[in-house]
Amino acid sequence: MDNCVFCKIIDGSIPSNKVYEDDKMLAFHDIAPEAPVHVVMIPKAHITSVDALNAENIDYIAHIFSKAGEIAKSVGLENGYRIVTNCGADGGQTVFHIHFHLMGGKKLGKMV
Ligand code: 5GP
Ligand code: ZN
Repeated sequence: MDNCVFCKIIDGSIPSNKVYEDDKMLAFHDIAPEAPVHVVMIPKAHITSVDALNAENIDYIAHIFSKAGEIAKSVGLENGYRIVTNCGADGGQTVFHIHFHLMGGKKLGKMV
């Protein structure tokens, strides 16, 4: 998808600090971390947000969650973590390619 920063990270035209990659997903460190460890997990399909999920594309999301625990351990989140997804303007979404924030590295408060 043109002009999508996460599609550009997937195709390599924007560099990222990757922590996990396979044929269906990519995980990389957030450029502006809001926790000591802050990884972004994205599908290798341009799905805009939770609003755009359906029976055809939900397997991408199931796959991300099937790998999340393994990715968390690989970045040292042995003591727990939080996974967040923002949807739409009121949800605080700024990149309209669905993604899951994997955050930890300290005892998180109610929000972060
Ligand atoms: P949102 O606000 O949409 O839930 O989350 C978007 C996230 O993507 C933000 O935490 C932001 O810091 C991160 N982000 C935006 N552009 C880039 C980039 O070019 N590289 C990386 N690594 N993270 C990015
Ligand atoms: Zn995209």
